[in-house]
Amino acid sequence: MSLEQLYREVILDHYRNPRHSEPLNNADSRSEGVNPMCGDEVAVAIELNDDHITDVSVTGKGCSISQASGSMMAEAIVGLSKGEREELAEKFKGMLSSDVPLPDPPGSTLGDMESLAGVREYPVRIKCALLPWTTLAEATNGRH
Ligand code: ZN
Repeated sequence: MSLEQLYREVILDHYRNPRHSEPLNNADSRSEGVNPMCGDEVAVAIELNDDHITDVSVTGKGCSISQASGSMMAEAIVGLSKGEREELAEKFKGMLSSDVPLPDPPGSTLGDMESLAGVREYPVRIKCALLPWTTLAEATNGRH
């Protein structure tokens, strides 16, 4: 199996079985984001302890890139502080910008999120991949 095929499998797995998609009843903050270019919708709800995320819910509808990215984000951010989340978001954005080389070896830093690296070849899809992250930033804005 090529790396490209492997990445595709990882994306489809998150798309079909999204992680942390159960609603949060006691969320401290919520936000909803849309990507009109593609019709993607993502809703993010978070529970915070100080500035650490203790639980998260990501739901939505749209293309496989946006929904899989939301699932991967949800899995990655539980337990992270604001600074750690910002660092992760920057790494992810860096991976999606075409002038930054892919991490070597693959999988070393971003886990499943690395499967979205191929999105850099499709600039209109980068907004899809980033939608959950911009929605998360809105949910946490002004909280800490
Ligand atoms: Zn999309």
